Amino acid sequence: MKRGILYGAMLLSLVWACTSVPLTGRRQLLLVSDSDMHSMALTSYKQFLDTNKVVSATTTQAAMVKRVGDRIAKAAQRYFEQTGNPNYLDGYQWQTELVESKEVNAWCMPGGKMVVYTGILPVTQNETGLAVVMGHEVSHAIAKHGAERMSQGMVAEGLLAAGQAGLGIAMANKPGATQTLWNTVFGVAAPAAAQLGLLAHGRNQESEADHLGLIFMSMAGYDPKEAVNFWGRMAALSKGSKTPIFLSSHPSDTQRIADIQKLMPEALKYYQVTSTTPTTTSGSKKY
Ligand SMILES: [Zn+2]
Repeated sequence: MKRGILYGAMLLSLVWACTSVPLTGRRQLLLVSDSDMHSMALTSYKQFLDTNKVVSATTTQAAMVKRVGDRIAKAAQRYFEQTGNPNYLDGYQWQTELVESKEVNAWCMPGGKMVVYTGILPVTQNETGLAVVMGHEVSHAIAKHGAERMSQGMVAEGLLAAGQAGLGIAMANKPGATQTLWNTVFGVAAPAAAQLGLLAHGRNQESEADHLGLIFMSMAGYDPKEAVNFWGRMAALSKGSKTPIFLSSHPSDTQRIADIQKLMPEALKYYQVTSTTPTTTSGSKKY
């Protein structure tokens, strides 16, 4: 890495990128704007939906997926309103689609564009299990993990000159390399569009998404204790012959489950506060 680029990035990190992750307070380097990330994500999302089979919203399963996405997005908005940051999610345009695929996977792009694959429903098993996955994925978007990875990549690969920042500038400097970085970060690799969203997050981003996800699912009225059951089921799948796509980017091990158990008292406080929220009667329904 050139010293000038590093110096420029450091300066920017003090000015523009002076930001920290909600709830955990971890400081992160962000050299791209929400609006640039959201518009590029929207393009990738549309391409994905155009080339995959979206399940009709009139089906029970797709309706459930949309309901969970909606409740978690509203819970997240409530969280920011209650913590004095009501505009934090401005610009997010939440959308959740169920896509027909045998892959065990789900993801949320920057700006709130989500996909759940039918292949993950046998593992989530019920609406609360689905809320574990969607709470986690929404949290990657809310914590701007994709933007963070893009920022780190743009600096590491010299896509910005000293003092520069912004996705548009990187794109103007080195369009091919910037697009390749985006494709790598978000798993956009034609023709394997089924892997969109397969971002190999670092361990700290994974833990953070678990943490935020537990709080948001709790505020949405879903029992966070199901997270332990869900990750236990994912861990059992890893013993099979073919590792599910979701598991390859979300290692489920005893450490992850132990960390989630440590967060449970905090999550349960949020769950108890929202226990007056009407809960669904289909929570135990098997799919
Ligand atoms: Zn994750």
